[in-house]
Amino acid sequence: MISQDQSRVKSVSIFGATGSVGTSTLDLIRLEPHKYDILVLTANSDVEKLASLAIEFSVKLAVIADERYLPALEAALKSYDIEVAAGAKALVDAAKIDSDWTMAAIVGCVGLEPILAAIERGKTVALANKESLVSAGSIMMAAVQQSGATLLPVDSEHNALFQCLAGGRLDQVRKLTLTASGGPFRTFSYDQMKNVTPEQAVAHPNWSMGAKISIDSATMMNKGLEYIEAYHLFPIGLDKIDILVHPQSVIHSMVEYHDRSTIAQLGSPDMRIPIASALAWPERMETQCEPLNLAHISRLDFEVPDYERFPALKLAHDAIAEGGAKPAILNAVNEVAVAAFLDKRISFLDIAMTCDKILNQYSPAIPENLGDLLAVDTQARVFTHKVIG
Ligand code: NDP
Repeated sequence: MISQDQSRVKSVSIFGATGSVGTSTLDLIRLEPHKYDILVLTANSDVEKLASLAIEFSVKLAVIADERYLPALEAALKSYDIEVAAGAKALVDAAKIDSDWTMAAIVGCVGLEPILAAIERGKTVALANKESLVSAGSIMMAAVQQSGATLLPVDSEHNALFQCLAGGRLDQVRKLTLTASGGPFRTFSYDQMKNVTPEQAVAHPNWSMGAKISIDSATMMNKGLEYIEAYHLFPIGLDKIDILVHPQSVIHSMVEYHDRSTIAQLGSPDMRIPIASALAWPERMETQCEPLNLAHISRLDFEVPDYERFPALKLAHDAIAEGGAKPAILNAVNEVAVAAFLDKRISFLDIAMTCDKILNQYSPAIPENLGDLLAVDTQARVFTHKVIG
């Protein structure tokens, strides 16, 4: 825990500023701009949006990950006193800039090295990027321990658990329950899912999110990744983490204590709410999000997850139970398979099938360090590209 002077301006870096979480973070900062000084914004290829945000917030540094877009970024910012940089190393260097609060909202394991660099500075990291934690959970949590950084979960379920645990301790907990909307195909049979399109799969019934996480929600791999995330963030053992389908996405997760008190966090399904909690933490900020109207919602439903129709859930469960390189392999294969599905190169059901196949075929040694882990990630992607063709 850190003690912060709450009256002081908070310096902020946002990795993945042009995405869904990045945009929501900036929307919140616009509500109280005098409280924040944005040092760094990053994107992958969306130069236009990155440049316009960099100008709006008078940032110090704008980084574009894809180096091909550096000339366009330089041209867009040439009349402004804003530094520009490009490439993977520039992202890591940007994460070393000493901001008080870093939003980790790059999508995919490509966000891992910048996140580690931010954690190593020992300040506050708001973690949206789940793939990096799934892949390198032990490495990341060890870095947090070593640096004394504050890691604030932004994923709505983990942010809910974090809030439910305020005032409690993990050794008092009997069970953590992650809720899941069930995604757009919650009521589909396995056969009905055979021919679903990317357009159908990204249309999440409750949440507005980036394409990759939307597909993960449709396969329910997202909940599997979140299960692994919860294992690292709240180390109480896999047998004490449950998943419950709750189609309305009103209860974002729950903590049951030994005395059978269950504390749940509720709210409208709007990512600005957990982001606001992390941005203002340990304070609270006003937002313009919809208030929760339970009288209007009138009923809340719950179902047990179906591991047959949604095999991704079981793959994630087994990957973290086996440990070692398996979560990193699962994550890497899933990233490649989701991209292939979005490109219409494989079918929806092929996503989990491809993960299953490569998890069975590839059993490397337990990664001992970041280098080993990145090698596993790369190799798993190579195998996946070969399988997909
Ligand atoms: P988006 O796809 O909307 O945004 C991704 C961001 O990462 C963009 O800024 C994108 O830049 C950047 N990016 C993409 N590829 C690279 C790369 N190779 N190198 C550097 N930057 C890259 O994703 P979301 O905002 O939906 O999700 C971000 C993360 O947060 C994910 O890990 C997701 O699982 C997690 N999350 C998201 C939630 C949501 O509601 N969206 C909820 C909970 C967690 P560009 O725009 O230029 O492509």
